Amino acid sequence: MIDFELGPELQLLQQTIREFARSEILPHCARWNEEERFPHEIIPKLGALGLLGMTVPERYGGSEMSLQAVALVVEELAAVDGSVAITVASHNGLCCGHIVLAGTEEQKQRYLPDLASGRVLGAWALTEPGSGSDAAALRTRAHRLPDGSWSLSGTKTFITQGSVAGTYVIMALTTPERRQHGITAFIVEKGTPGFRPGRVIKKMGLHASDTTELELEDVRLPDSQRLGEVDRGFVDTLKILDRGRITIAAMALGLGRGAYEAALSYARQRHAFGRPLAQHQAIQNMLADSATELEAARLLIRRAAWMHDAGQRVTLQAAMAKLYAARAAMRVCDRAVQIHGGYGYTREFPVERALRDAKLCEIGEGTNEVQRIVISRQLLSGGEVLVSGVP
Ligand SMILES: Cc1cc2nc3c(=O)[nH]c(=O)nc-3n(C[C@H](O)[C@H](O)[C@H](O)COP(=O)(O)OP(=O)(O)OC[C@H]3O[C@@H](n4cnc5c(N)ncnc54)[C@H](O)[C@@H]3O)c2cc1C
Repeated sequence: MIDFELGPELQLLQQTIREFARSEILPHCARWNEEERFPHEIIPKLGALGLLGMTVPERYGGSEMSLQAVALVVEELAAVDGSVAITVASHNGLCCGHIVLAGTEEQKQRYLPDLASGRVLGAWALTEPGSGSDAAALRTRAHRLPDGSWSLSGTKTFITQGSVAGTYVIMALTTPERRQHGITAFIVEKGTPGFRPGRVIKKMGLHASDTTELELEDVRLPDSQRLGEVDRGFVDTLKILDRGRITIAAMALGLGRGAYEAALSYARQRHAFGRPLAQHQAIQNMLADSATELEAARLLIRRAAWMHDAGQRVTLQAAMAKLYAARAAMRVCDRAVQIHGGYGYTREFPVERALRDAKLCEIGEGTNEVQRIVISRQLLSGGEVLVSGVP
């Protein structure tokens, strides 16, 4: 039985992060986004709160949290700013998460303490100019040299923290004929000869998040930089994505909630035809639909996170939570802009930024279409039972 009430520890965490986001992020994030600037100054504060080591065990300096806790943190950050939320989500879930999952003891000791404290940021690179959803079309190649070391060459794109990270997890083809089952992960440090961030990508939203290409040209790595077994990179990626999708769903929920709360407040104070907007039934309907959809998204996320924390497989539940929460966030943010009227279309109110930021949740870590493929595969394979008891 799932207890949907947050226990005292999670309530305290939620309150702490909410206050932190309101005092340390809210006063600055509109400017960071306007300037399209990565907010380096927030990183030590996130690190001090333990928000950069949420997936890292305490013995490596982390604050290892349950996925329910991580989802709450990301929701609270996203309710104020999507860019900070995606920075925290990708650093923790993808880069740290992959090293925790597949790293050797030596790799964990070497990389995790700096990542968990925020002294170094992490990035994780699977996507390439010619391969996103179809990861098997990846072209970055890792050749094994006679002495057992590796040479990596290729180009990655859309990499979050691409130019500001110090530690990168990079996926490369080691056995091309095995397609996605021939992919291996490597840890690459900033400054490694032949490795450099490429073009900064100008985006629709998340303007204070760093997104770049990465160039690899005969990057020489000892075998000790290989992360996990040869040809197991994609299998490990799928495990990381189950968790990551719940976090992106939480980001969508936070963005939607922030926009909904702004719309609720605006509808109470703005008047039209002699009464507050909130007293017009059309506006009430929009608020009712938004609150209901956010609540449904929250329940899907909480259930998926709870199952994950209980050690259960959540491929189906994570995909459902992400698909629903991302769609809901788009509808909720769109209504929030509508409720703000002309002001909602300006950059003076945060709802237009939330709408632009929320779009990423329908694309990153698997598009809506990919989530539907994942969901239908799980259902058709007959192995999954829904809450209703229906297989
Ligand atoms: C802001 C941002 C940050 C990102 N951060 C990272 C990161 O840190 N690391 C990383 O590795 N990647 C990152 N990504 C990449 C992201 O994961 C990919 O963009 C995403 O997986 C989609 O891949 P694609 O862009 O190549 O689209 P494509 O795969 O080319 O898809 C294009 C369209 O076709 C649809 N489509 C594709 N295949 C099918 C199919 N079989 N059936 C039906 N429809 C299909 C898709 O749903 C989509 O609508 C980021 C992207 C963005 C925008």
